[in-house]
Amino acid sequence: MVRNLFFSILIIISSPSFLTGQVRIRLFTSNDPSYAVFSVSAGRYEINTYSGQTIILKAGELAMISEYNGRLAIKARNSAAFECDSVIFSGKTGNDLFTLRVNGKTPLRQHYSGDLQCIPDLETILLINICDIESYVAGVVKAEGGSGKNIEYFKTQAIIARTYMYKYFNKHAVDRYNLCDETHCQAFNGITNDSLITGASYETKGLVAVGPDSTLIISAFHSNCGGETSPAEFVWLTSQPYLKRVTDPWCRSSRNASWTKSISFDSWKGYLSEIGFSGDSSDSLIFNFSPESRVNDYRADSFTYPMRQMRTDLNLRSAFFKISVEGDSVIIHGKGYGHGVGLCQEGAMVMAARGYTFSQIIDFYYSGVRIVDVKDAQVIK
Ligand SMILES: [Zn+2]
Ligand SMILES: [Zn+2]
Repeated sequence: MVRNLFFSILIIISSPSFLTGQVRIRLFTSNDPSYAVFSVSAGRYEINTYSGQTIILKAGELAMISEYNGRLAIKARNSAAFECDSVIFSGKTGNDLFTLRVNGKTPLRQHYSGDLQCIPDLETILLINICDIESYVAGVVKAEGGSGKNIEYFKTQAIIARTYMYKYFNKHAVDRYNLCDETHCQAFNGITNDSLITGASYETKGLVAVGPDSTLIISAFHSNCGGETSPAEFVWLTSQPYLKRVTDPWCRSSRNASWTKSISFDSWKGYLSEIGFSGDSSDSLIFNFSPESRVNDYRADSFTYPMRQMRTDLNLRSAFFKISVEGDSVIIHGKGYGHGVGLCQEGAMVMAARGYTFSQIIDFYYSGVRIVDVKDAQVIK
């Protein structure tokens, strides 16, 4: 009985592709495609029409897919155009690659592996790549990994990307796919043939990061923490035991370690009054704000305002900054780039270059987490 219950739960939470090692990724999410050209770059693809006909596409051949009155119109060379409610381009050799050109734009040099399902959705086409999980993970590492050069760094990023994928596997389930290819989920611009990245993904195959209760962690990361990571609650209001403040000695000489922004005196005063400051605007307190470490709020006398909101309002690179006056300008001296929570990519790159392993790097930025095979993680919430 207990065993049966266990299996029923497993079936409910797992979409079929979860168990088959595949993931459904929506491609060109932000382009609202109404027209796409599918080109085979390697292997062989098949399209099955509703009339029972099979169209074969070999390397170098292409098919056009258009949204047409709520349905799809498909036209491949050497075969008649046909209409359908949805279509799948199925790879047949096990080593099949394709490219997509969307809305007549210049083709991007992005190759995708696996199958492509096309479904009309209002006036656009959902382009859903059914892709092997580890190829997807390597593609995300390529897109999100920044300028890393070291395999231990890429292994770290692969575990982060894989953990995110499993944790949010059903994020778009209602939309008929698992994850989109934007930073809303994880950036994915197709597969990569960078052997360092594919090797890092392969060598950490199946590994994910879990918290003390064995559930998958929120594997947050950012470009540079400026020497100190941010507690999760400063950014997302809720805290996590593994997303605490960490003093980071590794990223302080990296590219995104510091920044400055100059604002005129009057603009700064105007901004403060817009956000509700009603004190004396000639008071030097409002121009002299220099916390020693990351703080949740900007303060001037009794006025407080969240740093994360100030970052958004003023389009700043981070929410970790001091304010001072120079001449007739207000200068914001900032540290780091990004929200600052979790792993600092530029710090992780330096750690990897100094010989630290991926597990040491993950342990440094996410306190108290373990790295386990996804089979041993508590995927069910
Ligand atoms: Zn998404
Ligand atoms: Zn850092």
